Amino acid sequence: MLLDLFDGLPFYLLWPALAAIGVAWFLLVCGGLYFLLHRSAYAETALRFKTQLKPTPAAQVRGEVFDGVLAMSMVMGSVAIAFWCYYHGYNRLYASPTDHPLWYIPLSIFGVFLVMEVFEWAFHWVCHRNALLRKVHGQHHRYGNPTPFGVMADHPVDMFIKASPILWIPFLFPIWDVALIGTFASLNFIYGIYLHAGFDPPWMPSPHSRFLVSAWHHNEHHSSSPEHNFGFFTAFMDILFATRLTPSEKEAERPDYHCTECRNARQAAPAAAS
Ligand SMILES: [Zn+2]
Ligand SMILES: [Zn+2]
Repeated sequence: MLLDLFDGLPFYLLWPALAAIGVAWFLLVCGGLYFLLHRSAYAETALRFKTQLKPTPAAQVRGEVFDGVLAMSMVMGSVAIAFWCYYHGYNRLYASPTDHPLWYIPLSIFGVFLVMEVFEWAFHWVCHRNALLRKVHGQHHRYGNPTPFGVMADHPVDMFIKASPILWIPFLFPIWDVALIGTFASLNFIYGIYLHAGFDPPWMPSPHSRFLVSAWHHNEHHSSSPEHNFGFFTAFMDILFATRLTPSEKEAERPDYHCTECRNARQAAPAAAS
């Protein structure tokens, strides 16, 4: 489907064309949520659910947008290489959903999810262990109080490696183009925006969740505990390797600290009593 749209384009046009689409998607979705949480009439209500109450400086937001545009272009480089490999018969991407049985599509999406969870955790963990990668990954950690734009605010090399499963998954198992790109563009990207928005509304996973990664966990990784919470959707790798930090553990170490939920509960308590 997607592959058919770009068939025949030489690589030097394929990459810029895909990069333009990716950057437009990044600016539209992240810009929309940034406007809602920081610049609209809802911003004051949203503050109740923000992990950090201090506003993000404008210079930091500009940095996130600049880094994000570059990093998104690198991600689309992975997509362009994967497409090029398909056009030349090197990988097992397929263009029509009926090229394999339909039941195979959810199974392959689960495969993509599993690869993302393990690879992104492992690469993130290594980035905090290896001196050279720590420097590269440090670009993402310049943003101590990220906004939705922070989802892509990485060094181009960091982001290229992070997004490289798009490139090598089609060598591991057959995958429908829409399933592969769609999983990254929706599931991975949208959840990543939520993690970087530093926004924990009650309808999203609770910071006290035993198994899911909430915005609190990733914000904590950015702001004060960079050696914890490397995970993306689920915490199973963090739990397995003892790098999980929960609000209760942080409160036990720092009694003056209260996570978003605990802060709101404390503020509501005196009002309820009066
Ligand atoms: Zn990190
Ligand atoms: Zn981050």
